Amino acid sequence: MLGFLLGALAQVHVAGKDMDVFGERGPAEKAARETDAAGARFREIFGAAPRRGAVILTREGRPVPDRDKDRAYFAHGAKWIWRWEAGRGAEPDTTMAHELGHLWLLFWADGPEPKTRQYGSTLPDWIDEGFASLMEGETARRLYSGAAKRLVRDGTRLPLADLLGCIHPDSREKTDRPKAKDRLVFYTQSWSVVAFLEDRYGAAALRHLLEKIRSGKRVEDALGEKGLPKTLGDLDAEWEAWAAR
Ligand SMILES: [Zn+2]
Repeated sequence: MLGFLLGALAQVHVAGKDMDVFGERGPAEKAARETDAAGARFREIFGAAPRRGAVILTREGRPVPDRDKDRAYFAHGAKWIWRWEAGRGAEPDTTMAHELGHLWLLFWADGPEPKTRQYGSTLPDWIDEGFASLMEGETARRLYSGAAKRLVRDGTRLPLADLLGCIHPDSREKTDRPKAKDRLVFYTQSWSVVAFLEDRYGAAALRHLLEKIRSGKRVEDALGEKGLPKTLGDLDAEWEAWAAR
């Protein structure tokens, strides 16, 4: 019996498509399925795999015992390691998918050894947050969609130029740009604008815009290309109509 219990609690390796997950068997298999789903979304948008990593699932902050000791976390191709406290329930761990989205985007934007000191990657905060929220999946999509619709209906949404120009409410970046005042508005509208760009103009157009910004250009510099509208005002109006539908 004791042997069986130890077996159930020992660390196993589950190879996901994009991440190697280490933890108790049940949570590790669940996490691998969920990182696979998030990875599939990443591939749809970027046309390439995210940077392969190892997720070490923890319980109360510690990895479950590893009977093999010194397990080679990098043996299956992982380039980086991330510790994550496994959710206990059967519900999808959308926070894991969200945070993983931040990390994948950070590697995509800033290379294998990011040195950023600001919130998220060196991309604008609305992109970091919007993309990470996109990784949360379908249930989150319905919640964000409903919230975005209310922002438009109530007239509490930000003008697009303000969203593009503000920084994350928790950012400690030294900048003249203002912090977003309302977390809910910032998160909802960031998700909504990124989701809209993919939905309305396609993944290639969204990727084009992200690549422009990564190269130091502005959103405006990508407009009029890949089927995107010509002005920020047009983009704003089309987003509003999409969000309100
Ligand atoms: Zn986030």
